[in-house]
Amino acid sequence: MILIDGKKEASELRDQLKKKVTEIKSKYNTVPGLTVILVGEDPPSKIYVKNKEKFAKEIGMNSEVIRYPSDLKEDVLLNKIKELNKDDKVSGILVQLPLPKQIDKRKIIEAIDYEKDVDGFHPINVGNLSSGYDSSIPCTPLGCSLLLKKVEKNLSGKHAVVIGRSNLNGKPMTQLLLKENCTVTITHSKTKDLKAECLKADIIIAAVGIPELVKGDWIKKDAIVIDVGINKTDKGIVGDVAFDEVSKVAKAITPVPGGVGPMTIACLLKKYY
Ligand code: NAD
Repeated sequence: MILIDGKKEASELRDQLKKKVTEIKSKYNTVPGLTVILVGEDPPSKIYVKNKEKFAKEIGMNSEVIRYPSDLKEDVLLNKIKELNKDDKVSGILVQLPLPKQIDKRKIIEAIDYEKDVDGFHPINVGNLSSGYDSSIPCTPLGCSLLLKKVEKNLSGKHAVVIGRSNLNGKPMTQLLLKENCTVTITHSKTKDLKAECLKADIIIAAVGIPELVKGDWIKKDAIVIDVGINKTDKGIVGDVAFDEVSKVAKAITPVPGGVGPMTIACLLKKYY
């Protein structure tokens, strides 16, 4: 069984990026800049933003975090985005989700210049991805894709089952797998027999948010299992896959923590190079 080490892959990716930033700096005397906007005090969001800033700085990129209180008016945020869209020093804009209730998430995503949309959530980027064109790809599925390719270079003809259909994970992941010529089944909360679907899979991507939903007897021998889930439980952080059982059957699996998670931020930074 191959344990897919996302921590190691992410660290190697950051080392490569650091070298590229140094090269660009010495050639052009400028580096790309990432601006992250955080509204409110959501604890996981605060950790994500802190890590994004830390890793961007570590590889030598310019990085700025704009923090607003949770009672921020939508107009103020829209005006800030307009300003950042026009600012040549800002290469990428990321508005950390979730946003407080009074702010319309869709309006905010659509206000970001799609060329500066590092999250890949703008409808133009979503449309380009689903049309098979170049686009900004959401970071978590991009990370999953890179980890998959480490185990299996050629995914053509493989049957992939994606569990979860969120705009953040399941849907973009499906597009990436289609681009690799996989046959893709996308499953969700209304899927009738998830176990039967999973048993057909050469590749399983679990992005659900239910602790250890995917069991050992749901897995075809030698399947590759990528676990996106991050679930807080009494026994600590666990994924959407019952690791102990599934790792006995699968050909390769990502652990939680230390699998997909570390790749997400590394992939965010990768977008600039
Ligand atoms: P979401 O809540 O937006 O979507 C969950 C999806 O799962 C939905 O499409 C729903 O239909 C489906 N679902 C729910 N119950 C199901 C069931 N019983 N069977 C099949 N499908 C079911 O979640 P999300 O934002 O895509 O996140 C999913 C998980 O990934 C969460 O645990 C989240 O914390 C984690 N996550 C991890 C990273 C990372 O960097 N590793 C990034 C984002 C999210």
